[in-house]
Amino acid sequence: MATKYIFVTGGVTSSLGKGIIAASLARLLKARGYLVTNQKLDPYINIDPGTLNPYEHGECYVTEDGAETDLDLGHYERFTGVATSQANNVTTGRIYQHVIEKERRGDYLGSTVQVIPHITNEIKERITALGNTGKYEFVITEIGGTVGDIESFPFVEAVRQLKYALGKNCIVVHLTYIPYIAAAGELKTKPTQHSVKALQQQGVQPDIIVCRTEKPLTRSVREKIGLFCNMESECVIEDGDVSSIYEVPIKMRDEKLDIQVLRKLDVPVKNEIDLTKWEAFLYKLHNPEKEVTVGLVGKYVELQDAYKSISEAFVHAGTELRTKVHVKYIHSEYIDEGNVEEKLSGLSGILVAPGFGTRGIEGKILAVKYARENKIPFLGICLGMQCAVVEFARNVLGYKDAHSVEISPSTTHPVIDMMEEQKSISNMGGTMRLGAYPCKLVKGTKAFEAYGQEDISERHRHRYEFNSAYLEEFKNAGMIPAGFNPESQLVEIVEVPNHPFFVGAQFHPEYKSAVMHPHPLFVAFIGAALQYRNK
Ligand code: GLN
Repeated sequence: MATKYIFVTGGVTSSLGKGIIAASLARLLKARGYLVTNQKLDPYINIDPGTLNPYEHGECYVTEDGAETDLDLGHYERFTGVATSQANNVTTGRIYQHVIEKERRGDYLGSTVQVIPHITNEIKERITALGNTGKYEFVITEIGGTVGDIESFPFVEAVRQLKYALGKNCIVVHLTYIPYIAAAGELKTKPTQHSVKALQQQGVQPDIIVCRTEKPLTRSVREKIGLFCNMESECVIEDGDVSSIYEVPIKMRDEKLDIQVLRKLDVPVKNEIDLTKWEAFLYKLHNPEKEVTVGLVGKYVELQDAYKSISEAFVHAGTELRTKVHVKYIHSEYIDEGNVEEKLSGLSGILVAPGFGTRGIEGKILAVKYARENKIPFLGICLGMQCAVVEFARNVLGYKDAHSVEISPSTTHPVIDMMEEQKSISNMGGTMRLGAYPCKLVKGTKAFEAYGQEDISERHRHRYEFNSAYLEEFKNAGMIPAGFNPESQLVEIVEVPNHPFFVGAQFHPEYKSAVMHPHPLFVAFIGAALQYRNK
């Protein structure tokens, strides 16, 4: 079968859940036995979101190959279990960078370099490159932003060209919003008509429309949308509100989204759909037997998208343990000696989040101290692990000015130091220690117990590391290494054995937690929180 290309565009407004629809469709096609990959095209000019403040677009997601990507790639991986890579996220910045490099090399042989065809060709190459790997039968490409945005014009134009060239092997699924006007007691289709017109003005006729709506779509609403937008009413799909994003694949199956997609692409609907395991997960998710409250201490807590993978990892681990995990988001900037007790008491576990820079750092260190001294289960991730090391150095080893050199370059006790290979780097973008690295766990540690194996691989995103010059001192005082990089001997995990559960990881376990693979460290952390609560 020739590779089939499915584009997911959005209209009317942002935040309708294009990423979830794209991921759900991938899940459904995978459940029919097809090989699927998801891609995201982002219209902004940054080369990648690695340099973006999380307040802008939420968390930066990191792939196995070390790409810093949009958080939608996290949804794709969590829904499908299919690993993504640098090729799965392309920004306008990256497209232009490559075209300009080619222009400087002289590759265009004197011709005028233009949006059409040079930029659009580059976009098309990035899309078809995934199909050309021969690894996928379906490539689902989500176009960031909303149709009509100036920024996304070249992407939509590339879709128009591909649709013409690929014929039956390419379709467009357009996600829109159907507002309910309470005063009129009616669902309104006009915004959808307008957004489809905006697409048509750019030469693209959508094949399927998915409608976000708070009320069920009546038959007449479906028919009206079909009539105005040139499609059968079966291709108008209802996307109502659900209690969990993980319900969306089931909703889309019930609405026959996958069947319409296959029909439009001329693929016979023969394989049965198998969502048994997914439904078993949903059953456990909706029927918890216990509950527990944990705190997430970070400085971006106003925007929960900033910690998307962590909050989803809690859902996966909680479901595995038949536990509803309540997460209390605690702003590290506002934790001080006077209020730490009030802010953190009552929690059965404390997670100190990843991050960069000085803001809120002392609050994070106080949260670690509170968890360590009160024997509350603790999980520190990346900067959270580094804070645990700094706290231990200050309050157990007695090095009052101990710090990470990221925050205090002149500290006399740099217990977290810059990695050697980082010292000569001056560019900020894409230059950290990024992506998957192997780690060897130390037998007898909590980490080893959680993973149940010695050799693991986890994803990284940092410039600083545990300063091994202090390793013996830490070990003697009661903070031990629980995992090392087998080549460089960098300490990747620290633990305090004299504590029910005190684990700090230099890597990011949250990126690898998926619906079908709850992450062992999160499961162990929630398990410890349950034990703590029962005491
Ligand atoms: N700022 C720290 C470093 O660069 C931690 C990074 C993170 O938490 N992702 O090492």
